[in-house]
Amino acid sequence: MDKPDLSRLEQYVQAYDYPTDLLIETVAHCNLSCVMCPQRSLTRPRGRMAYELWTKIVDEVAEVSPSTRLWPALMGEPLVMAPEIFRWLRYAKHAGIEHIALNTNLNLLRPDHAESLVTSGVDEVIVGIDAATVDLYREIRVDGNLERVRRAVSYLASTKARLASRTPRIVLQFVVMDENEHEEAAFVEQWQKSGLEVDLKIKPRTGWGGTMPVWRGMTAGRAPRRIPCTWLLRQLTVFWNGQVPQCDGDWNGRTRHGNLNRQSVAEVWYGTLAKLRQRHLSGDYAFAPCRDCQDWSAGLSNTIHCGRPAAAARER
Ligand code: SF4
Repeated sequence: MDKPDLSRLEQYVQAYDYPTDLLIETVAHCNLSCVMCPQRSLTRPRGRMAYELWTKIVDEVAEVSPSTRLWPALMGEPLVMAPEIFRWLRYAKHAGIEHIALNTNLNLLRPDHAESLVTSGVDEVIVGIDAATVDLYREIRVDGNLERVRRAVSYLASTKARLASRTPRIVLQFVVMDENEHEEAAFVEQWQKSGLEVDLKIKPRTGWGGTMPVWRGMTAGRAPRRIPCTWLLRQLTVFWNGQVPQCDGDWNGRTRHGNLNRQSVAEVWYGTLAKLRQRHLSGDYAFAPCRDCQDWSAGLSNTIHCGRPAAAARER
């Protein structure tokens, strides 16, 4: 992919009166140990969100801002909660949440899960793959199995077709990093040839708030003019235990801006986080972890449609 273009991202630089996106860590356990994910280094307690907290958050968002997108994964693989996670997703859709995007490595999707996932109503399933070959996949997605993932994508697509369901949109993600940039073209070509109706999402590796390396293409050449971070302006992140950090870049929870067990999303949004958003909007980034973070410059991902005629699109 090309160096990220920030001009399209700037359209999102504004004040929002409620988060447009809510990252919810349903579980802080994972079946893989991927090289680009800080999950392996987590020192805060691991655990699983209480169902009561999930429904409390969902009920508020459904009432106040049903168009806010839910992302029910952060430092963990949501399918370690299968089949129960499907009930959680169904609850959110029935409550009125308009868009749920589930990030997963898909290694744990069994054939008998596929129907539950499709009928849960989840809008998007984003499968992190990041490689075209079995060998590179094994190096990057440690403990994963690319052949198993390919089979799972295939029966997810066939289940969707059998049930004549428009959802979920199946998105196969390739995070470009120094280790895999040479396989990006092959990844695109093999899925274009697969005949499956999937979308490919290509995005650069980010550094999780300055704690990990970013893709070298992000920093090559002249440093971009700094703009306010659209992750901070638009998103709210909540850990499994209700704690709200500044952003997903603070994956280990060094910052604390509230707890959704005791507060509403709106209360936390207008608490100390509001002051940080204001600092960014006024051009002040001189505080941790933003001072050392480059993730604000990741730009928009590229999306390539496969299996049906459509022009390439770009989106977050
Ligand atoms: S710039 Fe700040 S708010 Fe944005 S991702 Fe980095 S640490 Fe988080």
